[in-house]
Amino acid sequence: MIRTRFAPSPNGSLHLGHAYAAVVAHDLARARGGQFLLRIEDIDGARSRPEFVEEFFRDLEWLGLAWGGEPVFQSRRLAAYAEGGERLKAMGLLYPCRCTRAEIAVAAADSGPDGPVYPGTCRGRNVDPEGAAWRLDMARAIVAAGPLEWTDELAGPQAADPARFGDVVLLRKDLPASYHLAATLDDAADGITLVTRGADLFAVSHVHRLLQALLGLPVPVWHHHALLVEADGTKLAKRRGSPSIADRRRAGEDGRALADALRAHRFPAGISLSGNWTAMGLHGET
Ligand code: GLU
Repeated sequence: MIRTRFAPSPNGSLHLGHAYAAVVAHDLARARGGQFLLRIEDIDGARSRPEFVEEFFRDLEWLGLAWGGEPVFQSRRLAAYAEGGERLKAMGLLYPCRCTRAEIAVAAADSGPDGPVYPGTCRGRNVDPEGAAWRLDMARAIVAAGPLEWTDELAGPQAADPARFGDVVLLRKDLPASYHLAATLDDAADGITLVTRGADLFAVSHVHRLLQALLGLPVPVWHHHALLVEADGTKLAKRRGSPSIADRRRAGEDGRALADALRAHRFPAGISLSGNWTAMGLHGET
């Protein structure tokens, strides 16, 4: 059975772009007789706020997007992420790193989809692991996994190319997890067969496909949908002052009509869909 998910981070209100993403995930599951799940990506303790979680529930109900089962909270799954990290450590594929963001910015020679590419400063060094982050030794991981492919329903078959991310952090200094590790383990644990998300996260799927291979996880199909953009081509964002989904709900708008408008690609003035998104990371994990 097909299973999709909507995985918002509760660090701000949902905007129209999130609503569009939720409609896409919900409708793909429903059209194919599958299930639509809700996952709350709340491992970032400093930025996650419980009041947004409550708001998301009400927003999705208002939009008429019913999810199956109980929502998944990433903050309750830290043990599973730590265990995944231990398995990768036991395979000799992770190494501790104590570099700061500022040090990396100075030392990095390349820029990747997620910002400056870590130059490998701590790789092969005898770094005290206490309180350190753990990075994936990308070159070794790629050799260990061998050539990999994955499929995006819209973009077609892809040869996995995670190398340009460099040695990504899989276990943060403050947390036994990272976006890449948590999202990959959760999609497997929840039986997600179709990973639906915005095209801005297209490139991270190269990394997730690698982690699936290393951890022996099932491989889903991906569906990276076009993003809602402003008239100047920039992605919708909370800070730009357009009303949030919660604002619209509180103002008495009709949520189901809004969801139908999104389905029909009828957007407010100045907002349109753009498939023209080069992948860009959203998650600073170090
Ligand atoms: N939590 C992520 C976000 O809000 C989505 C991650 C995903 O769908 O894999 O951008």
